[in-house]
Amino acid sequence: MNPYWSPVVRGLSPYVPGEQPKISGLIKLNTNENPYGPSPRVLSALAAEAAETLRLYPDPNSDRLREAVAGYYGLAPAQVFVGNGSDEVLAHAFLALLNHDLPLLFPDISYSFYPVYCGLYQIDFRTIPLSADYQINLDDYCRPNGGVIFANPNAPTGRALPLGEIERFLVRNTDSAVVIDEAYVDFGAETAAGLIDRFPNLLIIQTLSKSRSLAGLRVGLALGHADLIEALDRVKNSFNSYPLDRFAISGAVAAFEDTDYFEKTRRRIMVTRDRLTANLQALGFIVLPSQCNFIFARHPGRDAAELARSLRQKSILVRHFRQERIDQFLRITVGTDDACARLVEVLKEILQGGEETTA
Ligand SMILES: *Cc1c(COP(=O)(O)O)cnc(C)c1O
Repeated sequence: MNPYWSPVVRGLSPYVPGEQPKISGLIKLNTNENPYGPSPRVLSALAAEAAETLRLYPDPNSDRLREAVAGYYGLAPAQVFVGNGSDEVLAHAFLALLNHDLPLLFPDISYSFYPVYCGLYQIDFRTIPLSADYQINLDDYCRPNGGVIFANPNAPTGRALPLGEIERFLVRNTDSAVVIDEAYVDFGAETAAGLIDRFPNLLIIQTLSKSRSLAGLRVGLALGHADLIEALDRVKNSFNSYPLDRFAISGAVAAFEDTDYFEKTRRRIMVTRDRLTANLQALGFIVLPSQCNFIFARHPGRDAAELARSLRQKSILVRHFRQERIDQFLRITVGTDDACARLVEVLKEILQGGEETTA
């Protein structure tokens, strides 16, 4: 290892994002991007920012965006934080709120970035197993902890917890911060945003990358008590004063203003998801109930890694995780109706040829 590397860097095991292929013509169902482009109002807002004003720094506090988000959720701007993608907001939350002496708790199967942040900030953590049917059981988190983080709906399983269970947990867990990653909440789950006035330890993190079709713009946000937001601001202002550029601020504001487009596209994705689920079940797949823009599915007769390889040969990318308990599943992003129909057609061909490989 290079002698100039710090001990922290030597010990890191960085997150590996899903493949972004350089070749065109692939059906990309591997990174949960929205199959529909952003709202036309976002595109005009971005075009308007391509101007002489780019010589000026953006607003370091992104006030316009904080106000737009606060308005959307009926909160005060001081209850909103925005960052360069929710990955950055998550990173700040790990440092600002989840970094204590007692171990941080999160599910054994969840967003694989969580243990990476723990490595970066040297946070002690314990993973709590999902139930046999891949559900988070919050009773298992009722023990001394330095913080709790989970995704709702969870990724990559797609399963969501009802708000009532989250509320019951918050009543019991008052001594540490509870961070809920709601990256996929707009595809059919219930947001906990309405609980933040009652629970000063609750932080909700969302992204514009999935339900608002803006993965390429890099905008994420957090909602919580003003004191929690101040903690995030302290980290942000010790790291990068301008995480959102002029394009990101304007584009994100326009995305929150165009509620019609948002409603139309997210509903379309939910309809396609439910059809895809039924079509895969008809091919013999076991599909977990999903409240996300992806499904998590396995075929009892086929090895998941081999299925992913066969799909790739037919120009379809899906995500496979080499991780205990889920290595026979595929995570498949809900694409357009055409993309999903093509996936089903190709899977049918693959299943008809070749022989069974697993039990
Ligand atoms: C996609 C995703 C994110 C990150 O989103 P960005 O805003 O694009 O950084 C965070 N959490 C989960 C669970 C995700 O799936």
